[in-house]
Amino acid sequence: MLGYQESLGRGNQRKNAGNILNVKEIPCNNQINRLIDGVKPEEFDENFKDGIGLAEKYGVFEQYKVLDGGVLIALDGVWFQSSEKVFCDHCLHITKDGKTTCYHSMTAAVLVRPGGEVVLPLAQEMIRNEDTRGTDKNDDAEPVQKTYGKQKQDCERTAAKRLPEKHGAYYKELKATLLGDDLYANHNTCKAVLDSGLSFIFTCKDDSHPWIAEQFKYSTPETLTRVVWTGKNHREYRYTWVNGLENRADGEKLPVQYLHFEIYVRETGKIVYKNSWITDKTITKDNVGLPVDCGRARWKIENGNNNVLKNYGYHLEHNFGHGENHACEIYCVLNLPAFFIHGLMILCDENFIKARSCFGRRDEFYNALRTFFRAHLFQSWEDFLSFVIIHAKGG
Ligand SMILES: [Zn+2]
Repeated sequence: MLGYQESLGRGNQRKNAGNILNVKEIPCNNQINRLIDGVKPEEFDENFKDGIGLAEKYGVFEQYKVLDGGVLIALDGVWFQSSEKVFCDHCLHITKDGKTTCYHSMTAAVLVRPGGEVVLPLAQEMIRNEDTRGTDKNDDAEPVQKTYGKQKQDCERTAAKRLPEKHGAYYKELKATLLGDDLYANHNTCKAVLDSGLSFIFTCKDDSHPWIAEQFKYSTPETLTRVVWTGKNHREYRYTWVNGLENRADGEKLPVQYLHFEIYVRETGKIVYKNSWITDKTITKDNVGLPVDCGRARWKIENGNNNVLKNYGYHLEHNFGHGENHACEIYCVLNLPAFFIHGLMILCDENFIKARSCFGRRDEFYNALRTFFRAHLFQSWEDFLSFVIIHAKGG
């Protein structure tokens, strides 16, 4: 980071940083660490709403309204920082084979849609321990154990409950249906979602929700099969569902619909996909395809968000600095508005789409942008992109 900051301060890069990005002064590494350590990740929440406002302004938000006039928000836990040596009072920790790893994690929230490649991130919820220093004063213990003791840690499931409580009003404006993996299909999370006036489609595996599986086993489900010719083989899309099962915890009951889907290939006699979900949406023969398509769009948060942020040109897991309060969280969060804007530009900025199409992998594209940025002087962002389009392939 320091190297990049120093190079930004030199020659063309300095001028480009001013001309294109409106950067006037470039602070040093220590200064940045000190400044951002006290900034809470929540302070960026409004930026994501502004991003949605831009998506509306440029007419691309409509395509995300896919279920009952509302959007799909996929949730998933993401590790973004881990170390056996560097840690703070808010680190989560896990001990395996005698080794303790300290890490930071968040529940990411991302707009997805069936059939769409571009995902748009919303405000995340950090999964972090409160300051436990002093609760387990064992001076003989190793530093990590001494700091953390055996207190109950924050976790993805608790963060999943906090998200709709915190952002429920905004999610409600978006008429959101939340998507999540099997971890979310418990009674308490479903209830928190419904209490916030939202809907859910959560993956529900028999092993982890035996009570629901048992009810399904003794119910009389409805079924529908559609045969699709792919050009190579005949696929049977098999839908099975029951309305009105119960999701239970501590004597409380919540009505849910259970939905199973599998794809059977007639020519090979094999099932190539199967999954099941619970939802609060009523399922009928006429609408059963849509909740399945929406439930299946959940994986886009893993593939189109987490994987891209970790491996394709962003720096989600890079250790820029840990800090004592929020520094490493803020370094992670700063990736998200950038990722949002890139997604938006891929949807509606003609020059950006042209420039991006000159490259295969996303990280190759960003590397090329950096190279051009270093080597040439540009007067504006438009000037920069036009140059990339002309010269990307040696044109
Ligand atoms: Zn930490």
